[in-house]
Amino acid sequence: MPIGPALTRDAGFDALTAFLAGPGADYAAARNTDRGPEARPTTSALSPFLRRRLLTEDEVVRAALSAFGEDGAQKFVSEVFWRTYFKGHLETHPEAWTSYRAGLDTARARLDAEPGLRRVYGQAVDGRTGIDGFDDWARQLTGEGWLHNHTRMWFASIWIFTLRLPWELGADFFLRHLLDGDPASNTLSWRWVAGLHTRGKHYLARRENIRQYTQGRYDPSGLDEDAEPLDEAMPPREVPLPKADAPPEGEVALLLHLDDLHPESLPLGRARVVRIGGLLAHADGASAQVREADEAAMADALARAGTHFACGAEPIRDGWAGDRPVVTAWAPLGPSADALPGGCLRIRRDWDERAWPFSARGYSRLRSAIPKVLRD
Ligand SMILES: Cc1cc2nc3c(=O)[nH]c(=O)nc-3n(C[C@H](O)[C@H](O)[C@H](O)COP(=O)(O)OP(=O)(O)OC[C@H]3O[C@@H](n4cnc5c(N)ncnc54)[C@H](O)[C@@H]3O)c2cc1C
Repeated sequence: MPIGPALTRDAGFDALTAFLAGPGADYAAARNTDRGPEARPTTSALSPFLRRRLLTEDEVVRAALSAFGEDGAQKFVSEVFWRTYFKGHLETHPEAWTSYRAGLDTARARLDAEPGLRRVYGQAVDGRTGIDGFDDWARQLTGEGWLHNHTRMWFASIWIFTLRLPWELGADFFLRHLLDGDPASNTLSWRWVAGLHTRGKHYLARRENIRQYTQGRYDPSGLDEDAEPLDEAMPPREVPLPKADAPPEGEVALLLHLDDLHPESLPLGRARVVRIGGLLAHADGASAQVREADEAAMADALARAGTHFACGAEPIRDGWAGDRPVVTAWAPLGPSADALPGGCLRIRRDWDERAWPFSARGYSRLRSAIPKVLRD
């Protein structure tokens, strides 16, 4: 799925239009098939746009509902809500993020100390394991910055259960190279494959399944199809959902970051935006391709915001906001949240405000609440 054009809101709409006119109609039946990077995708490929909210979940879901009706769009809508679920889940389980980061440090120290592990890791990230499919996917990830969902599942499962590599190193490999790299979806999906998200339930990649859903392109032998799930001593604790701020009245400076680049639809109440600043905080070690995509997305958002609010909009520098209150969209756990200057007022969209309270446990609670969330 080559992303092709730079990441802008207009490019996002083009991708949405192409999906609605093409694979959208057959999405539920075809979405598990990965036809390969040269073929037309079976899914929307909207994730790089949704991840940065160049398009919002709300507009993508409503476009699908209006094109295919409630029944026809059901599977797609449910998939979009997985993104919402993972974000809400990580906000209420921040330890899943901090323990991933700590586990990554430990795994990197092991790479320095253990030549055998270093060798297998090197083969995996360079695509030299000899496992049919896996090696192509490693090269597709670093080359294109994207993998089909089913392929991500196979890749993560082979990484953990066949190659026996620490899952944190695989999650880091994804986060640095995926154009949609996202702390919540990525960390929690790797935990899910490993059997840590739904404790004891892991995802095992099977040869026959790969053969079927790659339409015979791959037929890997030697996979461990009987491995036990991973376990951990202390699962992440649940904490209450942090509260958002209310937008103040009067003049404000608006800070944009990579988790929310559609400032035109932010719930700003009676705040009047007179200055706009952009904060670029990439994932640690992000590839050149991901950085370029981030920069293009931010440039697009600053240009749109400057026109919409009729004021100056540029990357932040010292004193950019003057002494006005700084308002920003809620930044979920991750690089933007880490880099936000102190004292920002963080406002949350209705979408997250309504869905996240259903996201603290398993996905089924949110799935049942989708009609209510959409109605409200
Ligand atoms: C190990 C692993 C790591 C992943 N890492 C990321 C990541 O870093 N960033 C990321 O955005 N997604 C991640 N995903 C989820 C999923 O693979 C991608 O969101 C999806 O492949 C994007 O392709 P698409 O836009 O064509 O999806 P479509 O099938 O067209 O779905 C539409 C939208 O729904 C959301 N969505 C669909 N499936 C999922 C899912 N399983 N979980 C969460 N949201 C979903 C995405 O926003 C997607 O754009 C990961 C999945 C796995 C198994």
